[in-house]
Amino acid sequence: MIINRLAVIGVGLIGGSFAMALRRAGAVGRIVGIDSDAVNLSTALSLGIVDEIADDAVSGVAGADVVFISVPVCAIESVVRSVSAALPAGCIVTDGGSVKAAVVRMCDALMPPGCRFVGGHPIAGTEHSGAAAAFPGLFAEKRCVLTPGLTADPIAVETVSSLWTAAGADVCHMEPGHHDRIFAEISHLPHAIAYTLVHAVGTADVEGENVLSYTAGGFRDFTRIASSDPVMWRDIAMMNREALLASIDGFSASLAELRRRIDSSDQAGLTEFFTTAKQFRDGIV
Ligand code: NAP
Repeated sequence: MIINRLAVIGVGLIGGSFAMALRRAGAVGRIVGIDSDAVNLSTALSLGIVDEIADDAVSGVAGADVVFISVPVCAIESVVRSVSAALPAGCIVTDGGSVKAAVVRMCDALMPPGCRFVGGHPIAGTEHSGAAAAFPGLFAEKRCVLTPGLTADPIAVETVSSLWTAAGADVCHMEPGHHDRIFAEISHLPHAIAYTLVHAVGTADVEGENVLSYTAGGFRDFTRIASSDPVMWRDIAMMNREALLASIDGFSASLAELRRRIDSSDQAGLTEFFTTAKQFRDGIV
């Protein structure tokens, strides 16, 4: 066992799966759940994801060795502000949020003396939300990026790292700003494009036809992630604004280049464009 008591604030897909994975690994003694959605919280209790539930975050963090925050990223600051005075001495606070620079900056500043914050981001997920969507194998053989600040306590980093390893993840470390620029490209941009594509096609008018009624495998595969929680993605777009805008600009330039080659019937240019992209894609699968 790595820790005795874990408090999970936000027992949804990520918080619930983390709790289930740690329980399955025998890494934690007791797990308390806290969530603003009372129905979700009682689902988490009835599914055995948590051992007990707390009425509020302040009572929920009492006695916790580790507090794991897995709420939408814009809500992390208010959660930490609300519990910081109640955190037990020696407590480690960590999170699973998809944006790191702003979160690490805020949370480091809000830690009371004797408590330590270690930022984290599991590179795993699905388009589903809530405790009912959680499963213990979510993080198996997936990366988890830890983004300890410059003054992070090495023992706290080691404890959080051990928990993610017990949950099945491969842990790596990154500077928070570097994390945000990488994941703007590889995760936030694809979600933005998937939402935009469905938005564009869903509002397209082709002689009055409902275009979406003709969707088949390709469109559905490509747009699966546009079924993800809109609040979560609103928050990610707001918190990783600069990096996401830069990624969108890069994408717009690529799309404009493709448009130019189509417009000029540039056969060789189109073959080269699609071949280069295919080679990148084939290289990752
Ligand atoms: P989720 O399934 O929607 O679960 C989040 C839970 O937190 C919901 O039950 C939500 O309740 C609750 N909540 C919201 N604000 C709260 C607050 N102030 N206090 C207590 N509970 C609160 O979300 P998730 O997919 O697990 O995502 C959680 C975090 O993980 C996010 O920061 C996200 O960026 C990150 N993440 C997600 C994925 C993914 O694929 N889903 C992958 C990696 C990282 P309400 O429904 O009432 O708001």
